[in-house]
Amino acid sequence: MNIQQNISLKKYNTFGISVNAKRFISVNSVYQLQQLLKIEKDIFLISGGSNMLLTKDIEKLVIHIDIKGISIDRENENDVYLTVNAGENWHEFVLWCVSNNYGGIENLSLIPGNVGTCPIQNIGAYGVEVKDTITKVEAIDIENQKLVSFSNIECNFGYRNSIFKNEVKGKYIITSVSFRLTKKNIN
Ligand SMILES: Cc1cc2nc3c(=O)[nH]c(=O)nc-3n(C[C@H](O)[C@H](O)[C@H](O)COP(=O)(O)OP(=O)(O)OC[C@H]3O[C@@H](n4cnc5c(N)ncnc54)[C@H](O)[C@@H]3O)c2cc1C
Repeated sequence: MNIQQNISLKKYNTFGISVNAKRFISVNSVYQLQQLLKIEKDIFLISGGSNMLLTKDIEKLVIHIDIKGISIDRENENDVYLTVNAGENWHEFVLWCVSNNYGGIENLSLIPGNVGTCPIQNIGAYGVEVKDTITKVEAIDIENQKLVSFSNIECNFGYRNSIFKNEVKGKYIITSVSFRLTKKNIN
């Protein structure tokens, strides 16, 4: 495990605040994250770093979620089912969907952050909420490192809200989000 010492977080938060992480690691696979969590429990997560105001150096191990990849699980005439890893940038994912004519999240373009954090507050804009396209969220249970699946219903989505901000806050690390998008022109 390549844990680095005294790393500036300036490029990892969108305010560009230059606080230091005493210990820092960027993870790019679920397996790597599971192995890390076997020995590290006192952690601080950063994804896109757009929803945090860092005010002082961080003593905990800072884990940057950088797990990339988009896969098409299945598709039919009407819909496409995708799984997107947590470290993908949200806006770039929206652009990728638009360029492939996959509809449903285009109103959510330009929202800062990564795909893995989109379910936490059920991001929304212009009358659209991401919950209406999410079929499943996968996450690692920090305590036992098991990969767990949350169905859309189990995410308990509400307006800018979900189970990840409430009952299970701080217990899971989201590793991927699955979506159902439309291939039809619905206008
Ligand atoms: C200018 C601006 C405009 C915005 N506009 C909108 C808008 O129109 N609509 C809207 O809904 N929101 C909006 N937001 C809110 C923001 O985009 C979301 O909160 C975003 O989803 C945060 O993503 P992030 O990857 O940057 O999270 P981060 O800032 O990296 O992390 C946010 C929190 O989640 C935790 N975390 C990070 N990764 C994980 C993970 N993989 N699993 C579990 N916990 C994790 C972190 O520890 C932290 O507590 C806006 C924000 C900004 C700054």
